This record gives sequence, structure tokens and C-alpha cells, in this order.
Amino acid sequence: MRKVKLDGREIPVGKIVCIGRNYSEHIKELGNQPPDKPVIFMKPASAILASGGTVIIPAYSNECHHEIELAVLIGKEARNIPADQAFSHVAGYAVALDLTLRDVQNVQKAKGLPWEIAKAFGTSCPLSDFVTKDRVSNPQQLRLKLTVNGEVRQDGNTEDMMLPIAELISAVSEYFTLEEGDILLTGTPSGVGRICSGDRLEASIEQVGSLTVTVG
Ligand code: MG
Repeated sequence: MRKVKLDGREIPVGKIVCIGRNYSEHIKELGNQPPDKPVIFMKPASAILASGGTVIIPAYSNECHHEIELAVLIGKEARNIPADQAFSHVAGYAVALDLTLRDVQNVQKAKGLPWEIAKAFGTSCPLSDFVTKDRVSNPQQLRLKLTVNGEVRQDGNTEDMMLPIAELISAVSEYFTLEEGDILLTGTPSGVGRICSGDRLEASIEQVGSLTVTVG
């Protein structure tokens, strides 16, 4: 079973629930429409890649994109949670990448088919260690930054989320039971782009941490 570290403690990972289209500038850059309800998909725990690891882009894709995202670790079971109680179910935060096979996703979208083959491959979820929530003063005011080979590609702030974290937890918990060890990825700001073999990605979120991976 995959585990993540929360301030040095090992936590077994359940499911990874991801939110799409949660920053308006990113919706515009991909030519999508703002959703009236959150766009939700999942990655399996087997998608996780620890910092320092190597991303393996599957042979069936020619266009893998980086998406930096704030990851939220669930610490307590949550079902139909009102937004004003959502943070009592949060254990901590980490830096994540939602690596996406954009060419494959575009075909799936055009056919009205699920996205998992574009989103859930092994190594598609590079993830830093988690910090406990008390170490983050305001999770809705954190700068996210991603560089590829030292060049800044994404530079956003969690204050620009369309649906804030509490609302996301509330909405997701209407559809799924969230359990201790589940992880929520909260969407990416604009600046997504292609990564290629040999690239070195460095992602950081202030107060939360950083993550480095290379592309194999
Ligand atoms: Mg994403």
C-alpha cells in the first residue's frame, strides 16, 4: 500500500480525488467553459511518485502536461460535510503535480469518455511530503510556482481558486465518502505546458514545501 509522510509519520493512502477547472485563467487557456459544478475525477494511489523520482510518460501519448496543485490530506471520515465544518476533516497539505496526457484527454473529451487513461498512469501524481495544517496560516493565500529546467511556467496563488477548499470538500463528500488518508487535488492555475524526456520539474508552494522530479 502506498504511504505518504505527514510530519514524519507514515499514512496509508486511500483514493486521490482531483478537481478540474478550478482556476479561471486555466479554463481560458484550454478553451473550456466554467463548470456549474466541480469537475471531479480520480487517480489511484499507484499514481504517486515521491520527490526525486522519475516520471514515465506512457508510450501511447505524445503530449504530457504539468499541472501544479495544492494537495489536501483528509484526516477524518467525511460524508455530506457542510463547508463550515470542512477544515476539521483536513490533516495537512502538500505539493502535487497532476500530470496529464493532454492528447489522450482531448480524444476522450471529444468522445465523451472518462479521462482516467489520461490522468491515472503510474507516476502521474508526483507528491511532496505533507505538513500538518497548523503549519499553514491560510491555505487560500499560498503562492504556487512550477519551473521546468529553471524556467518559470506556472506562478499562481490559491486565492484564485473558483471554489475554495472548504467548498470542494463539501461538494466531493456529497459524491464520495472521504476517509483518512484520502487526498484532494484542488486544481491548477494557468501556465500548463508540455514536458519532455530529460526535463527537470521543480514545484513549490509557500509554507507547504517543494517537489523535484525528472522526466525519464
Ligand atoms: Mg489538474
